[in-house]
Amino acid sequence: MRFSGLRVLAEALTGHKGWAPLWRNPDPKPAYDYVIIGGGGHGLATAYYLARTFRQARISVLEKGWLGSGNVGRNTTIIRSNYLLPGNQPFYEFSMKLWEGLEQELNFNAMVSQRGVLNLCHSDAQRDAFRRRGNAMRMSGADAELLDVSAVRKMAPFLNFDNARFPIKGGLLQRRGGTARHDGVAWGYARGADMAGVDLIQNCEVTGFFIEKGRVRGVETSRGYISAGKVGVAVAGNTSRVMGMAGLRMPIESHALQAFVTEGLKPVIPGVITFGAGHFYISQSDKGGLVFGGDIEGYASYAQRGNLPVMEDVVEGGMALMPMLGRARLLRAWGGVVDMSMDGSPIIDRTPIEGLYLNGGWCYGGFKATPASGYAFAHLLANDSPHPTARAFRLDRFERGYMIDEKGAGAAPHLH
Ligand SMILES: Cc1cc2nc3c(=O)[nH]c(=O)nc-3n(C[C@H](O)[C@H](O)[C@H](O)COP(=O)(O)OP(=O)(O)OC[C@H]3O[C@@H](n4cnc5c(N)ncnc54)[C@H](O)[C@@H]3O)c2cc1C
Repeated sequence: MRFSGLRVLAEALTGHKGWAPLWRNPDPKPAYDYVIIGGGGHGLATAYYLARTFRQARISVLEKGWLGSGNVGRNTTIIRSNYLLPGNQPFYEFSMKLWEGLEQELNFNAMVSQRGVLNLCHSDAQRDAFRRRGNAMRMSGADAELLDVSAVRKMAPFLNFDNARFPIKGGLLQRRGGTARHDGVAWGYARGADMAGVDLIQNCEVTGFFIEKGRVRGVETSRGYISAGKVGVAVAGNTSRVMGMAGLRMPIESHALQAFVTEGLKPVIPGVITFGAGHFYISQSDKGGLVFGGDIEGYASYAQRGNLPVMEDVVEGGMALMPMLGRARLLRAWGGVVDMSMDGSPIIDRTPIEGLYLNGGWCYGGFKATPASGYAFAHLLANDSPHPTARAFRLDRFERGYMIDEKGAGAAPHLH
């Protein structure tokens, strides 16, 4: 079933009786060539590109809950490619280019909206750092503009420019950045993968691996044993748990990260705005809610919920930046479990166990990476060689000292 304007019109006139489910609901088969663990954005995108682009068959995605029940359906929907380091920037720009053609590729409305991402700076030193980042972005083909205060004022007059502690001195703008409907992305990839023959198996938790002579042969699941040629793990906040079942200890800590949305308001915020002197960022959804977030919880946890002190801290950041926020009523708050790597950058690599591959360590920022991560992981699974833009995301970089420490914060997960 293809979606089109004509189709919507025809269905509207005939009582919407012709819509089919977006994907099948198959039972697991005893064996697959590829088993992808995790039906989030990255797992679904991986299966999609494996089948469609790399022409592989006999693929399944095993999801312990329902598709999109993890971080892909819980994030604040921001997409951007405003990175500094050579290990990161080309990968995120590749992702941005995939976002730009994604809805046509998937024939699915993922509400990709390039409304701009503005990072505010509050000191001269920060402006210098942003200039350097903007230049790095332009060198990899991304767009970046350094704005002075009057340009920021024109764009977002409601900000607290003359705050004595955090005066706004300008900003780095990426106009091609923006937002996308997060669960729509999961549904689009799920539908595309299903149409390409991938079995998407929900309520199927992986509980163990069968490893023989250093090679993975299959997975134990809540729906029985499934044998596999290759196994790709893409379970985000559960990475250390699942890899622990294979006897591997990860350079990753899991923490809860919260997000917040207010009641619907008339359009007020033009794009995504981030506070440069604290951890706070905000955008406005198409329904009108102000969507915002901030820091992770200070302790490691696998719980999909946060606590009030972080909520207070986030809202304080918001009030320092845009005092009008205090007049909006908070509608909902929720949490997800983020896989914080020790240098703040991801891992897309083989593991010491033959046939077992890892995609994880996405920290707060894996949603924007979804298309490139799926593509690069599928490339690795199909060809046993890394995608050119993801070569630096090696698991052994922590042993060898080749960190990709974008923020220069060191091995402190809460600072990335
Ligand atoms: C509140 C919040 C805000 C965020 N905001 C942004 C943002 O604005 N921009 C951005 O780029 N990123 C953001 N992120 C990060 C981003 O959402 C994640 O990095 C990304 O979604 C992770 O990849 P995923 O979609 O595959 O993860 P998930 O959707 O979490 O997928 C992993 C899946 O694995 C499944 N699973 C786990 N264990 C097992 C098992 N044993 N067996 C089978 N299945 C299993 C889980 O149920 C889950 O569905 C945010 C995250 C949170 C929590």
